[in-house]
Amino acid sequence: MTSLLSTFQLTALPPVAAAFRREVKAFLAEHLPELPPEKRARSWMGFNAGFSRALAGRGWVGITLPAQYGGAGLDPFSRFVLVEELLACGAPVSAHWIADRQSGPLILRYGSDEQKAFYLPRICKGGAFFCIGMSEPNSGSDLASVATRAVPEPDGGWRLNGRKIWTTNADRCHYMLALVRTSGNAEDRQRGLSQVIVDLSAPGVTVRPIHDLAGDAHFSEVSFEDVMLPAQALVGREGSGWEQVNAELAFERSGPERLYSSVVLLDTWIAALRRVPEARRDTVTIGRLAARLAVLRAMSLAVTARLAAGESPVVEAALVKDLGTEFEQSIPALAEAALGADPQLAADPGLYRTLAYVSQVAPSYSLRGGTREILRGMIARGLGLR
Ligand SMILES: Cc1cc2nc3c(=O)[nH]c(=O)nc-3n(C[C@H](O)[C@H](O)[C@H](O)COP(=O)(O)OP(=O)(O)OC[C@H]3O[C@@H](n4cnc5c(N)ncnc54)[C@H](O)[C@@H]3O)c2cc1C
Repeated sequence: MTSLLSTFQLTALPPVAAAFRREVKAFLAEHLPELPPEKRARSWMGFNAGFSRALAGRGWVGITLPAQYGGAGLDPFSRFVLVEELLACGAPVSAHWIADRQSGPLILRYGSDEQKAFYLPRICKGGAFFCIGMSEPNSGSDLASVATRAVPEPDGGWRLNGRKIWTTNADRCHYMLALVRTSGNAEDRQRGLSQVIVDLSAPGVTVRPIHDLAGDAHFSEVSFEDVMLPAQALVGREGSGWEQVNAELAFERSGPERLYSSVVLLDTWIAALRRVPEARRDTVTIGRLAARLAVLRAMSLAVTARLAAGESPVVEAALVKDLGTEFEQSIPALAEAALGADPQLAADPGLYRTLAYVSQVAPSYSLRGGTREILRGMIARGLGLR
């Protein structure tokens, strides 16, 4: 137990981060579109290519990628500050989000020189948006059972057939980084899996958007029918897909985005409380939420320090995501109870609409990026209990 906990070293943001935060705030004051809170609450589900390109113009997409590829060459702490500021004000970041957080760093780590030279500058300019092709209709939690298959062709390329599902932004992205089987069969599990980059405009790719409970269609089902991929589509070594995907998940699970999904609702609730003094008994609840957020933020920063040191703290990232999503999900539940107890608060239309949206999407927080049960299984293994 103590060995897992001791890996969460209390970490302060480096002094330069404060100056960087001021720069980000100034940028957002100028460029953030004027949106009502229920739209800002979408934040990392909110797609706005223009905003992403403006951010890229400032050098902040691919923020951790080296300058030789057009990146800002900043450390993961700067990314932490940028992400925190973007999410705190509900900026629509989803267009560039996955490329910045996962696909770019993954290509940098495992890609060939040609792949780096081709994709990374495009990512940094906001001209290449990526999606993640892991889940399939019969492979979600059990990711090792993916059945989408890329078969080698005589010319060195690959023929791709299969189906992915729940792919965030597949209908609006340029590329998918997909986990596929390149050898063996289902019984081989992790062996024989590889990662390939699929150009989503290629013949044989069909993208069918899926509507969620809140009426948005941010994810899709994607089918591949004899899609011809060039040899250079393979990222890293053939058969190393499992290990690569797991390294990617440490980036996916530990950042401030796993703490701030309901933060616009929390801020809107606090603003409403300022206007309704009679409802201030809720301040105790707000204080508790602020205390929880402070602890979770410290844990997320501790994982950021490990990522900055080049490590891959997969178990710690799972712990942050599990606790973080529980926190994010508790905010709409507590706000709902507060509004129910106080009709004056419920009369605030912005708060009411934001709560309606966040309540509908909050169940997905503990599904996307790996479900709660799967994360807890990983944590148990990290504690030597499985
Ligand atoms: C908003 C959203 C966005 C998403 N975006 C993407 C994306 O961009 N790319 C992508 O690839 N996927 C994406 N996903 C898919 C997501 O990763 C999967 O939904 C998730 O991994 C669960 O898989 P599943 O839906 O097949 O559920 P299942 O794996 O069928 O699980 C169903 C239930 O059974 C539980 N369960 C399963 N196995 C076990 C076990 N061994 N022990 C205990 N309990 C278990 C699960 O915890 C869950 O509660 C997204 C999902 C959501 C909700």
